Amino acid sequence: MDPRQVKPASIAAQALGWVDGETRAIAPPIHTATTFIRDPDNQFRSGRIYARDHNPTFDQAQAVLAALEGGHAALLFASGMAAATAVFQSLRPGDHVLAPQVMYWSLRNWLRGFAADWGLALDLVDMTDPGVVRGAIRPGATKLVWIETPANPLWTITDIAATCEIAHAAGAMAAVDSTTASPVLTQPLALGADLVMHSATKYLNGHSDVIAGALVTREDSPYWQRIRALRVDLGGILGPFEAWLLMRGMRTLFPRVKAACDSAQRIALHFAEHPHVAQVLYPGLPSSPGHAIARAQMRGGFGGMLSLRVKGGEAAAVATAARVELWKRATSLGGVESLMEHRASVEGPASPVPADLLRLSVGIEDAGDLIADLEQALR
Ligand SMILES: *Cc1c(COP(=O)(O)O)cnc(C)c1O
Repeated sequence: MDPRQVKPASIAAQALGWVDGETRAIAPPIHTATTFIRDPDNQFRSGRIYARDHNPTFDQAQAVLAALEGGHAALLFASGMAAATAVFQSLRPGDHVLAPQVMYWSLRNWLRGFAADWGLALDLVDMTDPGVVRGAIRPGATKLVWIETPANPLWTITDIAATCEIAHAAGAMAAVDSTTASPVLTQPLALGADLVMHSATKYLNGHSDVIAGALVTREDSPYWQRIRALRVDLGGILGPFEAWLLMRGMRTLFPRVKAACDSAQRIALHFAEHPHVAQVLYPGLPSSPGHAIARAQMRGGFGGMLSLRVKGGEAAAVATAARVELWKRATSLGGVESLMEHRASVEGPASPVPADLLRLSVGIEDAGDLIADLEQALR
């Protein structure tokens, strides 16, 4: 059976059916070599020359990720930020970019400074409203529309297909930060996106022990080649051990994401009508503004991320976080252990995040235990 013809869950579990040709080993080795031998006739038939450009360990993880996203090719980077910044650094001064008001805050902060320094025109818009996006496009100048859905940390939903159509009609590309959805829940390329970005630190690796990033492209293009060259030249590559850990983590991606989605849905429903909770932000709640679009473009669940707004404001939210025992007070997301953080403390005074908001990353523990711990903390 051609490993590319099977379902994505099978691709992930078996890493595209990888078996070592020589030893028949079922788990890949970690290739640490920095350089590769030239053939006597001065050629490189292995296709590999030097490890800032080529490494068999990250090549394998890239092939699996490209298959999971249904893309032409993938590139791994040293972090999610290295992947995302490579996309913007491959634009030209004078280009116009649209990005969401609600998005991963480190990238938004970097983008503001970089856009000013690089001469990029940048507008942060309400990406959940296609009418707003259409109105913000500058015909001829807009080169990229950056989407994040569900978006950190309010879990707002952007209609990927509608937004990509608007971008393409204006001759712009569309890129999706799909970190929160993972390839399990959403396939941005099939919905029209040109590029998908992941912080592989999160669900793809899933064990809170690797910092990594990835880009996947729908097709080869001069722009993709610029990004590829930038990775080689800036050297923001993933080390072989990290690539190997990431490959190992991706094998269990589907059951981990499914468990997190099931528990997040239960937790969201449980606390939606809670006396100490002002609001639950989760696209899986039928009352959520993005629910209908999320239903249409996500499959198998609404993600493992949700936020609670605690009654009593910032002090009550911080006190709740202080009392959890099973949940861990830490930033990041997408790991097997459940994390909680008072997000406004992380983002600082310029943040649009409400001060009473706790961001929850649901792991794979027993959902009843997670609910019980949150109940005692809220009381
Ligand atoms: C964590 C994260 C990033 C940045 O990734 P790093 O691996 O930390 O560099 C970008 N986007 C989203 C949505 C994230 O959660």
